[in-house]
Amino acid sequence: MDESPMATVRIKEGKEKQLVRHHPWVFSGAVEPSSKKTVPSRPGIVRVEDSTGSFIAYGWYDTDSHILIRLLSWNPETVPNTNWWVETLSASIQRRMHFFQTSKKTNTFRLVHGEADFLPGIAIDIYGSTIMCMISARVAWDHRLVVVQTLQKLLNPLVVLVTTDPTFCGVEKLQETTERYVGGLLVADREDTEVIFREHGLYYSFQPGTGQKSGFFCDQRDNRSRVAAYARDRNVLDAFSYTGAFSFNMLAQGARSVTAVDSSAPALERLATQLALNVGKGRLPADAMDRLHVEQADVFQYLRDMQANSYDLIVLDPPKLAHTKAQVDGALRAYKDLNRLAIQKSTRGGIVATFSCSSGVTRDMLRTAIAWAAKDARREVQILETLGQSSDHPIRLSFPESEYLKGFIFLVL
Ligand code: SAH
Repeated sequence: MDESPMATVRIKEGKEKQLVRHHPWVFSGAVEPSSKKTVPSRPGIVRVEDSTGSFIAYGWYDTDSHILIRLLSWNPETVPNTNWWVETLSASIQRRMHFFQTSKKTNTFRLVHGEADFLPGIAIDIYGSTIMCMISARVAWDHRLVVVQTLQKLLNPLVVLVTTDPTFCGVEKLQETTERYVGGLLVADREDTEVIFREHGLYYSFQPGTGQKSGFFCDQRDNRSRVAAYARDRNVLDAFSYTGAFSFNMLAQGARSVTAVDSSAPALERLATQLALNVGKGRLPADAMDRLHVEQADVFQYLRDMQANSYDLIVLDPPKLAHTKAQVDGALRAYKDLNRLAIQKSTRGGIVATFSCSSGVTRDMLRTAIAWAAKDARREVQILETLGQSSDHPIRLSFPESEYLKGFIFLVL
């Protein structure tokens, strides 16, 4: 056990406002240079105070992270030690117990949504008896063993995978890797069997440790039902289909035809495997095979080239187009372009379901981009529904970055 006294870090005057309101990120520029000299070089817990010496929070200090301190506990009585990790993780799982009760239909959902659940740099998804931890910060990597052991104790999964998010490996000085734990113990890497799981009674699968870092996007679970409710007898374009989750829901709801477009060959191969799985299990009717068409293409090009009036329901679910604030303007132009093409090419009375998963793009910005798109396309649109991330991806108000998925279903007149 580390017996050394806890170091103290002072925040520059005026830089404490967000932190006092429980925003969890302290960047290097907010810290008094003099107090940086007194902190040990090894990462660890520090006491963070304002320029007058009043306690703000305890946080994890790590000079190798692009966020110098990650605040964990704003209660002076609660030091965020190993036990804090156990309790915070347990509480996050406890808040989601109702998801386990509907597991016949849906057994994949998010157990931990990072900072929104007070655990920095870690997202944890469950897929039936497999759990996947996606790590995007050094502090979560350093605490992965307590995370794995707590998951094992509470949920007894067959396998826990711990994988580092390639987007953050550079800025967090982490290796790109996937670790596999069985019974809470690290096992040597080996080809694992496929994981099969369910959402809305439809089956999906993935091969751990291969392909896309995320097996499945469960943040769109509720939206898949909302959008599919419009699919009956429509000709649908599922743009950025990934492995087909929107497509399958729309086929199940009686879409006349679905065209799934994605640029990734492995994603489309997985789509084909999953389609066969669902037909085989009687979850989709046999004619779903004929109603679904797959195109490997760049969506922007596909939308430009396609004939007008081919589709009367278009889903636009692009990947994150803005990773930083500086990329927001460019992303807005791309969102506008996508929506303009969809509006121009849609039938009158057609429906567009459009999404953005960039946290820097606010709901208002997305709505404005759609308004510009409609103006350029010389069509009127009516918003029918406003969509967001599923409730297992909660939005913590003191951490606005946790709201990232925004969407609209609109009608083209
Ligand atoms: N709608 C999907 C998730 C989409 S994720 C679901 O519900 O599961 C975004 C997808 O966009 C990824 O599959 C990625 O391969 C694809 N993609 C990224 N850029 C693209 C482009 N320019 N054209 C086509 N597909 C693209």
